Amino acid sequence: MYSDDTIAAISTPPGRGGIGVVRISGPDSLKIATALFHLEAASELDVPNRAQFGRMIDPASGELVDEAILTYFKAPRSYTGEDVIEISCHGSPIILGRALQLAIERGARVAEPGEFTFRAFFNKRIDLAQAQAVRDVINAQTEFQARVAAKQLEGELSSRITPLKDSLVEVIVHLESSVEFVEDDISPQTASILLGELGCVVDALTAIADSFAFGRYVKEGFDLAIVGRPNVGKSSVFNRLIGADRAIVTELPGTTRDALYESTSISGVPVRLIDTAGIRETADLVESIGVTRSRTAIADADISLLVLDCTSALRKEDLELLDSVPEASRIIALNKTDLPNRLEEQSYEETGFYFTEQPVSISALTGHGFEELTAKIFERLSGSAAPERDDVLLTDARQHSAIRKSIGLLRDARELMIQRELEEIILLRLRAALASLGEITGETLTDDILGQIFSTFCIGK
Ligand code: GDP
Repeated sequence: MYSDDTIAAISTPPGRGGIGVVRISGPDSLKIATALFHLEAASELDVPNRAQFGRMIDPASGELVDEAILTYFKAPRSYTGEDVIEISCHGSPIILGRALQLAIERGARVAEPGEFTFRAFFNKRIDLAQAQAVRDVINAQTEFQARVAAKQLEGELSSRITPLKDSLVEVIVHLESSVEFVEDDISPQTASILLGELGCVVDALTAIADSFAFGRYVKEGFDLAIVGRPNVGKSSVFNRLIGADRAIVTELPGTTRDALYESTSISGVPVRLIDTAGIRETADLVESIGVTRSRTAIADADISLLVLDCTSALRKEDLELLDSVPEASRIIALNKTDLPNRLEEQSYEETGFYFTEQPVSISALTGHGFEELTAKIFERLSGSAAPERDDVLLTDARQHSAIRKSIGLLRDARELMIQRELEEIILLRLRAALASLGEITGETLTDDILGQIFSTFCIGK
């Protein structure tokens, strides 16, 4: 996949802006830039890490194209590990297109998506987990996502995985030497030390794998269905959560006859909100289709926000919903708390129902209680993960499955060790577990998979 030619691309997004950047990387970068730029009298372009003013000239006509600032990063101390030139010119698509064209005419090739980052990975400036984090930083839609990606960019995941790989290598070397030299047979004491070491690796990997339960929501978002009988205020809650009047709010029950979808974020976690049709028995065909869809939305949602109206006693439909939406995936909101609360006066004898969980009191009209509500949603998503602490948060499905696979193999290996199975058999599992961890940092991946990963990057990165 790697070629050592010189590549170039416009690294800033399409459109007009104050400045735009063209990036060139490879052995001819400096030669190309020298041919295209006239620097101020005393300057030399080949002084690395210094921004210099220059005039970009079309060498064919001698015509001025633009004034620009050039920075030269000398190999290996550059983003890609190669000689890199960054040209910051005026942010006009015409000028940037010309600059790129001139670089191509002087021997550069247009870079593939993600090719600069691929070269950084290939030249070991960063590992694969960091390269993926570069993409995640760029794609982040919320500040929280950007923060999580930035931590991985710093090598947080790799620094957790590397010592575990080292421990594994130690165990492998031990077993290998006992295979090779018969007199090095493993004593029961050594076996128990090795078992302990493997156990620690499994525990540490399990903690990382478990963080994916929350991490996948941070990356991919989650589905929150707002459910309740008609007129409890579902559409009002929906509108308040998205911060806009998207759903129609009326005092007429049955206004929302089909589900409405809207994307937003809650505490930095992307969410698809679903305003469902109020659940009730109805003779209206369209409304009853809506009700069926609501039930499907509840089944598919990660969390159902069950809205109750505090101004009236619990009704049959409320009780049915409380019965049908599983406690583990629901949050109960008591709406309209700006009005007198009639619901709490109701006794257990009347309904046969009591709250095992504390509902959140809200008013969609005034906004009261929404901070507590969003905090509760966040808490439910994050579970035992503690995103405030410096814990690693796994957000990538491929990384998660590599860790799960490794855990499975290590557990097998331990079991075989306890049964005093042949070292060769145990070693097969251990080496496979090590290779699986190597897929996260990228040492043990095929070109095909690497190609797939880097093709999801944008051009110029
Ligand atoms: P939905 O049918 O469950 O979607 O309910 P809507 O959001 O359409 O609201 C039904 C009625 O309740 C409307 O007249 C809203 O203005 C009113 N409503 C909704 N939330 C509140 C609230 O927090 N306080 C008060 N006083 N009225 C509310």
